[in-house]
Amino acid sequence: MNWSPRQTTSITVFMMLFGLGMLAILGFQVSSSYRAEVARVRNQTDNQAQLLALKLSGTLREFDLVLGDLADRVDPEALWASPEAEALLTAKLKQLPQADAIQLLDAAGQLISQVGSADIAPVPGNVLEALAHPQHLNRAYTHVDGKNGLVLARGISAGDGRLAGVVVAHLPATYLQHELGEARIEPHGVVQLLDRSGAMIAAHARSAVAITADSALMARLYAGKYTDGAAQAQRGGGNTVLASYRQVGSTTLFVVVGASSLDYLARWRTSTLYFLFGGGLLLAMALTMMYFFWRSHRLARHLKQKEARLNISESRFRQMIETIPVALILAREPEHLITYINQQGARTFNIPQAGALSLRAFDFYASSDDFAEQLKAVREALGIRNVEVRLRRWSGEVFWASLSMSSVEVGEERTLMIGVSDITERKRLELELKRRATTDGLSGLANRAHFMEVANQELLRAQRFNRPLALLMVDIDHFKRINDTYGHDVGDLAIKAVARLTEGALRDVDLVARMGGEEFAALLPETTPDLARAVAERLRQRIEANVVKLENGTEVRFTGSIGISALRDEDHLVDDLLKRADVALYHSKHQGRNRVSVHDEMITAS
Ligand code: GH3
Ligand code: MG
Ligand code: MG
Repeated sequence: MNWSPRQTTSITVFMMLFGLGMLAILGFQVSSSYRAEVARVRNQTDNQAQLLALKLSGTLREFDLVLGDLADRVDPEALWASPEAEALLTAKLKQLPQADAIQLLDAAGQLISQVGSADIAPVPGNVLEALAHPQHLNRAYTHVDGKNGLVLARGISAGDGRLAGVVVAHLPATYLQHELGEARIEPHGVVQLLDRSGAMIAAHARSAVAITADSALMARLYAGKYTDGAAQAQRGGGNTVLASYRQVGSTTLFVVVGASSLDYLARWRTSTLYFLFGGGLLLAMALTMMYFFWRSHRLARHLKQKEARLNISESRFRQMIETIPVALILAREPEHLITYINQQGARTFNIPQAGALSLRAFDFYASSDDFAEQLKAVREALGIRNVEVRLRRWSGEVFWASLSMSSVEVGEERTLMIGVSDITERKRLELELKRRATTDGLSGLANRAHFMEVANQELLRAQRFNRPLALLMVDIDHFKRINDTYGHDVGDLAIKAVARLTEGALRDVDLVARMGGEEFAALLPETTPDLARAVAERLRQRIEANVVKLENGTEVRFTGSIGISALRDEDHLVDDLLKRADVALYHSKHQGRNRVSVHDEMITAS
């Protein structure tokens, strides 16, 4: 397809804009889906952190309640290892299925009594100091027991505000581990339980990914700055870990749940790849569709232009056909029904164009046989060219025409195409020329050349069928005298008079010619010498009786001599007959003129 440079430029610009637009949409989609994915992951980790924190704080509150109850029941005055105390501790341990040991300590932190088998580290001095503070007597303190778990401690009041002793419950690391393990994390995810300093109490991870605790953040969390937990992104080691921090109740413990970009980005990347692939496919499809749209649009325009050009050329062609100086007729086969006639056709046949449409082609022929013959020729060959034929005008006048005819197949239909030129004038000229070539100007009779030609044919015919044939030679007597006496014009009148008399004396089938001067010849087919003599005699008498009247009243009379010859078997040419007739004519002249001589009789007579 050929596009103009302007079209190519505008299409290219349009396609580029379209492509850029699609890319912008795709880019926006990709980045927003990334942000959505990050938000989703943050939400998820925060939910998990919150859930874990709630669960742990629930457990710790339970511990606190049980320890509080225990602290109230223990007699501060009698803090020693006794079966009663032991029974009390055992009962409390049963209430705390998560705990693996409960201790009773004195105010200095020395162990008085323990139930449960856990090996618990001594309560640190700072905790004891804190517990000793009168305002903190009703609070439980949590601290980390190395790698073994958590310790919850609560002071026993001596009644006067002093610290009498401490009850301690131990939450094993295995329990914490189990709780963290319940969290559903992805292959590179991590769950950690930290204390305020960032020390790891328990962790759950399926890979080596770990979160470096941000103690400053935890301090702010502890200070109650973020009621909805805190989030943080840690980059490094080829990935980013989104970490959500939650404080466990009001303790110094924090749950951190981390999700690695190795997981969520991979997922996002896969879905983005699908998305990009789909988008690219759509873009390609859209561009292809646009291309085809443009192509069909152009094609349609081309077709329209072509159609317009065709219409113009068709009307031009019609106009041309209408106005060519040749009569043109189209006739549908097989009925030869006229379906079109051009202006010249209508003029030629003297009929209105519309009027011709009810006619058939052969209606224009003088003889429908001619039409049938031409149709046959057209069917046998491809067509006929410039055939002379007699046609008929609508007025009935017959005229000569030169006609060409061919047959064309258009679709299912076969149509005759007939071209006609009126050659009436040409024919007339032709006939005139022919007549001039064969006729003597003065007498109107055939001339010598024509006589010889026709007579020779007649001779052959008579010989072939063995028919009689006679030839007469007529010569005016003393013609010179007429010329000399009355003038050449009168001589001409005499010549004309003899021509008429000779014609009149003969039959239509006889050929009369002026052979030159005042000499005539007549060929009489089917005529015996006797018959010829009788005819000649009659002619001689008529010449003798004829009077040429001049304007001045003068009457001119003259006679003629005639010689006759008859066809012989040995004759080859009419010259043979002419020679003998000439001899007979000479004989007539010699015998005194105004008489008839037959050659053969003349010979026998002499
Ligand atoms: P004869 O009886 O022996 O035939 O005598 P004639 O005078 O007729 O002799 P001839 O036949 O020899 O004479 C022919 C003359 O006819 C000679 C010529 O001047 C004359 N002639 C020939 N052609 C024409 C013509 O076209 N018109 C006229 N007026 N005279 C012609
Ligand atoms: Mg003569
Ligand atoms: Mg003469």
